[in-house]
Amino acid sequence: MSKIVFGPITSRRFGQSLGIDLSPDAKQCNFDCIYCELKGATPVNTIQNPPTVKEVISNVKEALLKYKDIDVITLTANGEPTLYPYMKELIKELHVIKNSSKLLILSNGATSTCKETREILKEIDIVKLSLDCVSERCFKKIDRPIKGLHVKDIIEGIKEFRKIYDKELVLEVLVVKGINDKESEFEALRDVLKEIKPDRIDISTVDRPPAYDVQSVGIARLKELASILSSLPISLAYKRDYSEEKRNFTKDEILNMIDKRPQSFDDVKISFSQESIKRLNSLVEANFLHVKDVAGVNFYKLS
Ligand code: SF4
Repeated sequence: MSKIVFGPITSRRFGQSLGIDLSPDAKQCNFDCIYCELKGATPVNTIQNPPTVKEVISNVKEALLKYKDIDVITLTANGEPTLYPYMKELIKELHVIKNSSKLLILSNGATSTCKETREILKEIDIVKLSLDCVSERCFKKIDRPIKGLHVKDIIEGIKEFRKIYDKELVLEVLVVKGINDKESEFEALRDVLKEIKPDRIDISTVDRPPAYDVQSVGIARLKELASILSSLPISLAYKRDYSEEKRNFTKDEILNMIDKRPQSFDDVKISFSQESIKRLNSLVEANFLHVKDVAGVNFYKLS
């Protein structure tokens, strides 16, 4: 396999993912996040020496012949994929060859300030953008953007994007201990998220060894912070070996809980007793609850 295309890897949230690295030679990003899994690097505004569209397409075609049942073809980079200069043409070509797979992009959201980028992103089936916090102070501390980028402009850009984008928009919040794990940050974030109305919010914490010396927060704290957010579907990144006390819920309690916020299959598996799972399934059979796939994650919803 080339260094441009990698995988497929199993993504818990998106299924079988074939990755495209649009900056295969070096990290090139307009952020230098403290939690980045890549080495720290000075932020930049463009990807130098990018692969050509022809190269990318030929590598993806080869991979698609070899690997069947790819759920998503993921545009990513050793850095920020929207800095790739030929994105418009690439997306057009990928749509021609992708078969039944969806196109997904993992972006830090910074270039949503640009109208042209928003128009390009509009053509992608699932757009996942980061929004770690909404105060400038916190944003600067955690995402360490290139000079001239301000979180209020990014928020406005994402709001503008939502107006023209009716496919699946996922926002990701990565929580770092001591930086964006405060109630006040999450309350401010909630107000912004209510306006953006993403289809799903992914909440996670530092997992793999980061670029700088930062710490993760526990799942219990992530759950507390998630409870501050709006009633939108939230996918929490549970660690594989995470478990907690299984609880018994009556049918009314289940309906009430899901009325407040859709519960993911993982949420249910982690905290529901067997008896509660049976009750929940009976509510699905009786059509009081429905299962909805939101960009690859299943949720129980009321309607
Ligand atoms: S946006 Fe992504 S690639 Fe860029 S510094 Fe942050 S974590 Fe790393």
